[in-house]
Amino acid sequence: MLDRELGSEWEGEDINSAEEKIDEGNGLFLSLSFLVILLFSASMAFIWYMIKPRLIEISPYLYTTAGIAIAVFVFYTLLKYTVTVLSVVTGKNLPPFFNINSPSIVILICQYAIKIGKTFGISIDRIGNSFVNFNNSLMRVIKKGSRNERLLVLLPRCIQNSKCKQKVAEDINNCKDCGKCVITEFKALGKEYRFHINVATGGSLARKMVHKLRPSSILAVACERELVSGIQDTGSIRVLAIPNLRPEGPCKNTTVDMNKVRNVINFIYDNENENLSLEGKVSGTIVEAGARG
Ligand code: SF4
Repeated sequence: MLDRELGSEWEGEDINSAEEKIDEGNGLFLSLSFLVILLFSASMAFIWYMIKPRLIEISPYLYTTAGIAIAVFVFYTLLKYTVTVLSVVTGKNLPPFFNINSPSIVILICQYAIKIGKTFGISIDRIGNSFVNFNNSLMRVIKKGSRNERLLVLLPRCIQNSKCKQKVAEDINNCKDCGKCVITEFKALGKEYRFHINVATGGSLARKMVHKLRPSSILAVACERELVSGIQDTGSIRVLAIPNLRPEGPCKNTTVDMNKVRNVINFIYDNENENLSLEGKVSGTIVEAGARG
């Protein structure tokens, strides 16, 4: 796991060329992931073709065993990929006997999809945006929302107005609610739903917070690059991610579509068909939503 500071994903890049807002669907990631799977299958067949004469020379049993092992590995990977894609496309966790609770294959595919996409001149941000959408769909399929969720909201420091001197990274309650950035809206949502909010100044601090609070779900807001790295880092915890908007380029005065934020929070707390009116204060620890009201 690499240590990352906020903005390190943009080091050495022309940030002026960064897109302010990207809105990719699942299609781009799906197409690239299909290419990755095709290349993977072709590579395994090629490896088998190359080592086959040597294996026969050593032992016919070794040849048979290696053949079965490679065939099982390829079949399992293809099956897992197909079921994952079908689950996202149909919106159903298919089939129940097949465990897709670990989205590791999607994360692994993403790394190669970014490499392949780059050779076609597709930006990491567009691929990352599509991956984040795909991952969100998968997370929604794998686990339904629940009032007992322990939610941690992770925000990047660049979402705070650059002229503001309030130490919101220490405690979001230090925000004076002037309304110049969306921190004030997150603070209000945190009071309403009693989830913990952390304004992260870097990847290592965000990870420490995840380790300390052990949330059951994370809502992460950041640029696509940070989100892709963050999703890879968090392992088995469900992460729903929303790419930020960058009207002044990356890492300065960024913002986020609050309608998307409310939509995700409503899903996480299984509120989509209800309108719970809740009161409380942002606490220093995660309070189970089930304890509200
Ligand atoms: S809303 Fe809060 S964090 Fe944002 S600029 Fe105003 S005081 Fe600072």
